[in-house]
Amino acid sequence: MQIEAYIKAGKIASEVREMVRVKDWVGKTVYEVCEEVENEIKKRGAKCAFPVNASINEIAAHYTAEPNDSITIKDTDLVKIDLGAQIDGYIADTAVTVCYDVQFDGLVQAAEEALGNAMSMIKTGVKASDIGRTIETTIKKMGFKPIANLSGHSLDQYTIHAGKSIPNIWSIGGFSLSENSAYACEPFVTTEQGGGFVRNGQIKNIFALNSRKKTKNDEADKLLDFIWENFNMLPFALRWIVKEWDEKKGKELLDILIKKKAVQAYPVLIEINGQRVAQAEHTFIPKEDGVIVTTKVQ
Ligand code: MN
Ligand code: MN
Repeated sequence: MQIEAYIKAGKIASEVREMVRVKDWVGKTVYEVCEEVENEIKKRGAKCAFPVNASINEIAAHYTAEPNDSITIKDTDLVKIDLGAQIDGYIADTAVTVCYDVQFDGLVQAAEEALGNAMSMIKTGVKASDIGRTIETTIKKMGFKPIANLSGHSLDQYTIHAGKSIPNIWSIGGFSLSENSAYACEPFVTTEQGGGFVRNGQIKNIFALNSRKKTKNDEADKLLDFIWENFNMLPFALRWIVKEWDEKKGKELLDILIKKKAVQAYPVLIEINGQRVAQAEHTFIPKEDGVIVTTKVQ
């Protein structure tokens, strides 16, 4: 593992996240939000590890702007901005919830507090199930519900979900954190009226390569090579393709790759009772005597 790269990516991601936290996004389109946040990552010398997610209200995760997306942020919205920076494939994954309506402050605070309590218990050997218990207990004490079927994850070079899950609720079994592995912890919180689960929505606007096997369609294969060269196995958005192809053509070729199973499309994730969801996220590396939170406030 390249600890220096993880730390460098973390510093960049945390700077951008703190910029996102204090900025007034009301009146901006999600297209403007995603593009601006991605540009801030690139300006600081990292690549985007995935398209910036701007998931509003009951959409918990996995919404990124379409090309010229006109959905506009309102002052009553709760927006999860989830961003990733990578240096040579070593990823910092972090998120913040922005909200300009005081009635949702508690929801945002619960996500932040659950994440903070989780971070303070981390060291080598801590059980993921115990982290889940801390997250669940913190959220319930504050009068809210954790989302049970969303979780944190291990990270690896060019791999966001590297196989291990850090739950947001107590669960039987699971693994223990290893020294010098990277993980992301990301509590998601909904209201007491929420079901505490997410379901797949219809919209799919985040994609990732599945296989580099050629489709025998020359144009689609050109896109396949472009995806591999620019994004490796990491997620991407149609916005990132239409910089090279026009929107109609890019979408058509992407659909061919999806049909051929060369590319996978990820659906947005929606709270089952339509309740609002808040999120907070850090990337960290456990140590014998504590933790390096790579995305902590610098
Ligand atoms: Mn994330
Ligand atoms: Mn994550």
